[in-house]
Amino acid sequence: MIPALLPNFVRADLPFSHGEGAWLWTEDGRKFLDFGAGIATSSIGHAYPHLVATIARQAAKVIHVSNLYRIPQAERLAQRLVDRSFADSVFFCNSGAEANEGMIKMMRKTMAATGREARTRIICFEGAFHGCTLGTLAAGSNANYRKGFGPVPGGFDHVPLNNMNAVRDAITPETCGIVVEPIQGDGGVRKADIRFLQKLRAVCDAYGILLGLDEVQTGMGRTGKLFAYEWAGIEPDVMALAKGIGGGFPLGAVLAKEATAKHLTPGTHGSTYGGNPLACAAGNAVLDVISAPGFLDRVGRTAKHLRKGLESVVQQNPAVFTEVRGDGLLLGLQSIPPQADIQNACAEAGLLSLPASENVLRLTPPLIVTEKECDLAIQTINSACAPWSR
Ligand SMILES: *Cc1c(COP(=O)(O)O)cnc(C)c1O
Repeated sequence: MIPALLPNFVRADLPFSHGEGAWLWTEDGRKFLDFGAGIATSSIGHAYPHLVATIARQAAKVIHVSNLYRIPQAERLAQRLVDRSFADSVFFCNSGAEANEGMIKMMRKTMAATGREARTRIICFEGAFHGCTLGTLAAGSNANYRKGFGPVPGGFDHVPLNNMNAVRDAITPETCGIVVEPIQGDGGVRKADIRFLQKLRAVCDAYGILLGLDEVQTGMGRTGKLFAYEWAGIEPDVMALAKGIGGGFPLGAVLAKEATAKHLTPGTHGSTYGGNPLACAAGNAVLDVISAPGFLDRVGRTAKHLRKGLESVVQQNPAVFTEVRGDGLLLGLQSIPPQADIQNACAEAGLLSLPASENVLRLTPPLIVTEKECDLAIQTINSACAPWSR
């Protein structure tokens, strides 16, 4: 008989009861160093006092009112995101897929509203993951995720990452814009080159089409800047955020320049929960922490330290790992034995990690992780991979 909880996930038998910082405990008292952070989502770790207190305080006042009314918490969070980004306006929703759907709709609407109705197609990349709704499955490149769920919406063209000629060849009079992850998380922790991102910006400008960034995983400090696009010195026209923005509380956002945002007029798009008082209170509390002076510099230093340790793991175990991938605190170890076996061995030794495509072991610790905890993670990987090392 099918379990009451739909078994669409392969779940480890680890019922966690509580956490603190980068650590999680099971009901029976086992302790784990959490380098998955709920898939790069528990950005300021577990049970962060300011986030806990803010959520409790807001929940006791009002949780939800709907977008029929003004929501001061949402107005404040939107203004703070606008102040710290390329964007002029923000739409709130509840997940990464919903943020990407909003971004895609905004891009198409901009073309339709400016007399370019034929420009509906969006160029995406091989290895891309944008979510599990029908639209974002179509934008993603993994055909297995679409299998049996068709027809999915059309209008997406996929080209290889970091290949400008392929991008230029794919642009037609029907192209609306380009959507790219600065670092593909699910796709194998594959980085879009800085130069590639700069050239994407230039080609969008040249053709008058839109650049959309999926920063659901790379945004909100994960790479050591608030947004990964800052490393390239470019600005997108529109950007999707989720994961770390709520510190584990479901929250997503679409950030956009006025020229794009202004076309989502009343009645064109919506979300019942999106940006409710509780979610936005959580978002403001997370932003308080991430935007505190020195916080992102510390993320950058910790990330460098972790990367150095992982490079040494690769050097010491050439039969197990081929390379370190990614940037900031979104790192991957490309593996030779099945990644899942190493992931399980690490979990047995007390370290939680994530899978990624291309047989990559993905590490996304909370941004508050310490260098000492990184050292412990490196030691654990080193000893856990010993059976494959000989
Ligand atoms: C996780 C992820 C998504 C999907 O987010 P959900 O909250 O699961 O809908 C989309 N894009 C990227 C880059 C992601 O990492």
